[in-house]
Amino acid sequence: MTRRLSLALPSKGRLREPAWSLLEASGVDPQEPGERMLQSHCRNADIDLLFVRADDVPEYVQDGVVDCGITGLDLLAERQCDVVELLRLGFGKCSLQAAVPLEDGASSLEDLGGRRVATSHPRITGEVLGSLGIDVEVVRVTGAAEIAPRLGLAEAIVDLVSTGSTLRTNGLRTIGTLFESEAVLIGRTGSDDIEAQRTLTTVLGSVTNARASRYLLCNVRRADLDTVTSLLPTAGSPTVMELATPGVVAVHALVPAADIWSLLPRLQSHGATSILTLPVERMLP
Ligand code: AMP
Repeated sequence: MTRRLSLALPSKGRLREPAWSLLEASGVDPQEPGERMLQSHCRNADIDLLFVRADDVPEYVQDGVVDCGITGLDLLAERQCDVVELLRLGFGKCSLQAAVPLEDGASSLEDLGGRRVATSHPRITGEVLGSLGIDVEVVRVTGAAEIAPRLGLAEAIVDLVSTGSTLRTNGLRTIGTLFESEAVLIGRTGSDDIEAQRTLTTVLGSVTNARASRYLLCNVRRADLDTVTSLLPTAGSPTVMELATPGVVAVHALVPAADIWSLLPRLQSHGATSILTLPVERMLP
């Protein structure tokens, strides 16, 4: 009998909902925990779920309480736990940025030298600024770093930013990026069930790959085929199929979702017609 795999998921906060929807999309059929329950399971796979705070996930995995977990790359770097990074998950994207009040004259990270910097990420802040030879006094806060300059606690902050609206609302502007983060699947170092870790990584990876891709179909006159295929930002070879209409072929290719907006008008202007894009459910390279 194969051993059950245990997976720690964020119980609340920004990573909870997208982590849950990734599990749902992977087909393991996660079961909602009952009210106040911290544990649940998946109906279609031998996976037990444990719901804990995202910043506790690295410790739970390191200490062997669970085999794997989903957390933020920033939290992983801040905790410096002995775990393996198995897969970047493509959601929870944000960056750790240094910011100062609008009226402050600082314009780059170097200008932080000798200042007090409030952050809930003291380790990353100390390490990144230290590696750049920028000496600051790090003031550790557990949340709401953006109000620290107004309270006179620090002259600058280092905080997670995704849209920048919280900074703007608090009269701050960014002067540099220290770290890029996104959600990540982590596993226990030296796990005795590498196979189960690998299976989970493959299944979740097939969904994250698929989400980042679109299936593109279009019709092209044979005379335009080389031009159109040369425009396709695809690693593999596109499929080319004969159509009933002589001299016209159908081209099918997997393309990065992020390129779609710029690609479609270019394909059209180079002779492609009947252009369709479809979402992809799973993709294994
Ligand atoms: P929580 O504090 O539980 O909402 O989770 C915070 C985690 O969500 C962070 O450690 C990041 O990994 C991620 N995250 C993504 N975007 C942001 C953002 N704009 N602000 C804070 N955390 C973010």
